[in-house]
Order: sequence, then structure tokens, then C-alpha cells
Amino acid sequence: MNTSRIPMTSDEHDEFRLVVRDFAQKKIAPFAAQWDQDCAFPIKVVHKMGEIGLFGLIFPEEWGGGGGDFTSLCIAIEELGRVDQSIGITLSAGVGLGINPIFTFGSEDQKQQFLPDLVSGRALGAFALTEPDGGSDAGATATRATYSASSRTWKLNGSKSFITNSGTEITSVIAATARTEDGNISAFLVPAGTPGLVVEPGYRKLGWHASDTHGLTFVDCEIPEENLLGEPGKGFHNFLTMLDGGRIAISALALGLAQACLDLSLDYAKTRNAFGGPIGRFQSIAFALADLAVSVENSRNLTYKAARLKDENKPYKNLAAMAKLYSTESAVDATRLATQVFGGSGFIEDLPVARFYRDAKILEIGEGTSEIQRLVIARNLGLPVG
Ligand SMILES: Cc1cc2nc3c(=O)[nH]c(=O)nc-3n(C[C@H](O)[C@H](O)[C@H](O)COP(=O)(O)OP(=O)(O)OC[C@H]3O[C@@H](n4cnc5c(N)ncnc54)[C@H](O)[C@@H]3O)c2cc1C
Repeated sequence: MNTSRIPMTSDEHDEFRLVVRDFAQKKIAPFAAQWDQDCAFPIKVVHKMGEIGLFGLIFPEEWGGGGGDFTSLCIAIEELGRVDQSIGITLSAGVGLGINPIFTFGSEDQKQQFLPDLVSGRALGAFALTEPDGGSDAGATATRATYSASSRTWKLNGSKSFITNSGTEITSVIAATARTEDGNISAFLVPAGTPGLVVEPGYRKLGWHASDTHGLTFVDCEIPEENLLGEPGKGFHNFLTMLDGGRIAISALALGLAQACLDLSLDYAKTRNAFGGPIGRFQSIAFALADLAVSVENSRNLTYKAARLKDENKPYKNLAAMAKLYSTESAVDATRLATQVFGGSGFIEDLPVARFYRDAKILEIGEGTSEIQRLVIARNLGLPVG
């Protein structure tokens, strides 16, 4: 297993990695298959993640956070993702999409109202951008927000699709984009339980079975005027900036998956015998695992380089897109290879490789598809792509 020092990390990062790894091995790995089979959102372990400070990692101490850097968050997501992708995305979305928009754009009152519970992991927030007719093209937002001067409220009408952490029993708030009467897109905080907020039944998904995902419908959903999040008309732009950091986090999640595939496949290649010796002596398997080791190394370097740029407040949008594109496509390849190395056993749900195979595909889709990452990178090259 690879424990060599990552160029962009420190001794403290390595120590922290071991703490999260120990937590993941003891509190998550033994139960991951069952949660997956039951499609159960494991609320107790989410609370435990809060207790050890994972949701608060990158937020200042004044909000109950740990004051850590973004690199540490990526390390936590990578380590959780090595054993359970659903838990990894629960943390990634909980921090990057649930807490960060309120921390970054929220008023003092909004922060006071929501951050303490979110940062401690007692509550979860969600981020509702995608709509039935607007995913990659999120600027096509059709959800409407209508202002009433007499009641000083906003009324939301419309639908959102595939919203992570939006329907758990501890979800406290959903940040949603909606188009106002001037045609601009703003963001609004909709507290859980607001009349007119309909949380649709959870989806039946290919993977991420233990992650919470719902469609949402707003039916004359009325919220006070002070629930506008950030400046009016800036909601779309502000949400897109959140996604840049989210892409590095998804890259870390994919890295954890690819590393797990490498570890599992290597062990198996050394111990599974065929034709009088271990299958790892066949070049077809040995070379494929060598290639996988290279892609894991590349994913690691891209992920932590992008995280370092973000920590240093340097431009990171392009590298975040590169990291997400490379790591997620490599992770999908890694799960296909691991399943092949395990032969028939790779197809059976008794082993994590089958679960990883199902969990991998969404990595190439969520928080911007591979095509959208290529668009960002091509535009950065100065190419006139549409
Ligand atoms: C499990 C899960 C969790 C999610 N969580 C959230 C969440 O918490 N919050 C949230 O807001 N959203 C969430 N999403 C939504 C996710 O971000 C979108 O599904 C994703 O952005 C793609 O949008 P779409 O599904 O509408 O696909 P579309 O945008 O319709 O894309 C369909 C295909 O067309 C391609 N395409 C589209 N435009 C272009 C283009 N310009 N150039 C080339 N190809 C293009 C796409 O790459 C894709 O292959 C989640 C989705 C899932 C499945």
C-alpha cells in the first residue's frame, strides 16, 4: 500500500491521514457493504464524523471548526473514499456544497442560524443547482423566485434534481438557485420543513447507495426576504465558484477509489493461483497493475497540487478541472480492471470491488461531467469552444 509522502503535504497532514484511516477502517469499512445493500444513510457514523471534526475541518474556530486547510479535507475524503464512496461524498458535499456557500456568502445572521450545527456535523446542508432541464447548462434555471414587498418574503416555485444530503433526518437547510423577476439568478436558503418544500422519495441509484439523493419541488414555498444568500443576481456565479473546489474534492474521492482498487488487486494478484502460480506473474495482469499504479500517482499529484493552489489562494479553476477529469476517468478504469483481476469473484457483491464498480461512474458526472471539464480546460488553452 502506498504511504509515500505526497509532495504537497506535510508531517501534520500525514498524521491526520492516519487518524482518518483508522476511523475509516474501524467505523466504516466493516459496515459499508450492509449500508450499500440496505440503501441506508448511516446517520450515526455521520454524527461520529462530526465529533472527530471532519465537517468543521476547514472552517475557523470561531464557528466551531478546526481552522485546517483544504488539503486536509481532501485527505479525509480520499481516506473515507478508500472504504466507502457514499460516506466520502456525504462529507465532500456536506462541507463543499452544504456549509461552504453559507460560510462564504452568508450574512452574519445566516451564519449564526446554520453554521454551528452544520460545522459540528449535527446537521447537514444541501446545494440545489441542478434542475430537470438544466444540469450542465445550469444557467437554464427555471425555478422562479417572486418577491412580495407587502409580506417581505420570497416565494419559490420549480423543481431541482439529484440533490445530495437534501432529505436526511438531520438536513437543516437547502441553498437553492432561482430566477427572479429581473431575469437574474439568485440563491436562497430554504430551511428544512418549510411549507411548500417537497422532498421527493430517494432515487434508486446505480451506486452511492448509502448517500442521500432526492429531487425537490418548490410549491409556493415562502421564505423571509433575509434568506436571500449573497448578493441579488449573483447566485449562479457564486454557485459555480463553489463547484471549482468541489471538483478537487471529487478528485480526492476518485483517488481513494483507485488506490483501493490497486491495493485489493495487488493482494489478489499475489495470492490467487492459476496454471501453477500467482496470476500476478502474467504480464497482462502485472502490466495492467503497473499502469494503474502510474495513474494513481498521477491522480494524487494532480489532486494535491490543485488543493495546494487553493490553499495558497492562487488560481486553481483549470487545475481543478484537470484533476477531476483525470482522477475520475482513471477511477472508472481502475474499477473495471479490479473487477477483471478478481475474475468471477469481482462480480459478486461479497467483495468491495463490485460495489466500487457501481460507485465509480457517477464520479465522471457529478459536479460537472467529463465533457464540461474538457470544456473548461480547452477554454483555458484559448480555444474558441462553445
Ligand atoms: C447521485 C447524484 C448526486 C448529485 N448531487 C447534486 C447536488 O447535490 N446538487 C446539484 O445541484 N446537482 C447534483 N447532481 C447533478 C449533477 O451535477 C448533474 O447530473 C450533472 O451536472 C450533469 O447534468 P445533467 O444530469 O443534467 O446532464 P446533462 O447536462 O443533460 O448532460 C447530458 C450529457 O450531455 C453532455 N453535455 C452537456 N452539455 C455539453 C456541452 N456543452 N459540451 C459537451 N457535452 C455536453 C454531458 O457531458 C452529458 O454527457 C447530482 C447527480 C447525481 C446523479
